[in-house]
Amino acid sequence: MQPRTRFAPSPTGLLHVGNAYSALACQGWAEANQGELLLRIEDIDFTRCRPEFIANIYEDLNWLGLNWQKPVRLQSEHFDDYRRAIHHLRKRGVIYPCFCTRKSIQQEVESMGLAPHAEDTAVLYPGICRARNLVEQELRMEQGPFAWRLDIEKAMSIARQPLQWHDDKGNTHRAKIDHDVVIGRKDISFSYHLSVVVDDAIQGITHIVRGEDLEASTGVQRLLQNLLDLPEPTYCHHGLLHTPNGERLAKRHSSTTLRSLRAMGVKPEKLRQLLIENTDMIWPFGPEDHDPIIRKLA
Ligand code: GLU
Repeated sequence: MQPRTRFAPSPTGLLHVGNAYSALACQGWAEANQGELLLRIEDIDFTRCRPEFIANIYEDLNWLGLNWQKPVRLQSEHFDDYRRAIHHLRKRGVIYPCFCTRKSIQQEVESMGLAPHAEDTAVLYPGICRARNLVEQELRMEQGPFAWRLDIEKAMSIARQPLQWHDDKGNTHRAKIDHDVVIGRKDISFSYHLSVVVDDAIQGITHIVRGEDLEASTGVQRLLQNLLDLPEPTYCHHGLLHTPNGERLAKRHSSTTLRSLRAMGVKPEKLRQLLIENTDMIWPFGPEDHDPIIRKLA
């Protein structure tokens, strides 16, 4: 099979230098492995994605010098593929409908004495809807929107073992999943994890090159590939760009969007060189450093 990777931005805002780093890492991987680079627009979230950001992505990536195979896959055009996968998981008995709200989960967690510390933002789902019988499930499903959750224990018990994923350096990682994750959102009935694994399989992706912030998602995605009988890609998680004082670059640093760099007269080849040769993963400019950016990159 021809080596193939993909760059998969979500059109929720303008691309910034962190995205550019990731896009160039994908392109660099494809060139080094005589492989293909595909582009996928992950626009399932109607509340945050906007068509004008899709147009910006094409414009910015062309400016950056990225070359990708056509056609581009837009997730919003393939909802049937994702719903078919949900149906399949339902038939295998590894997902259940969840009628909880954020508030009801919080209350349950507190009543169990499991209240997370104030600084913990993620609450692990305590399994409230897992035990409902089929009749109750069907009844409540008719009454309003619901999410789909993966029954991790059941899913793990039928998945082919050992459940692992492999990185490009030859390391093996155990797939860790700590609670019944949502794989079908209330509004569209599937989720990021599900659409990503379905698309990677349909697009024949052999290697997934992406930021290490997504490494924690790999366990669930590997489990879904296993349950849906999809091929296993190799994962290459790259480091993230930071400011000189160690903070992660944020979208609110407007001087780091590709659009604003372009408006400052930055030359794409100079930006590419700075990003590609940047082994310490530091973006050496502050949010207001327009003049230093212009001196170095225009
Ligand atoms: N759409 C995701 C993002 O923009 C990337 C998903 C992936 O590479 O698996 O963060």
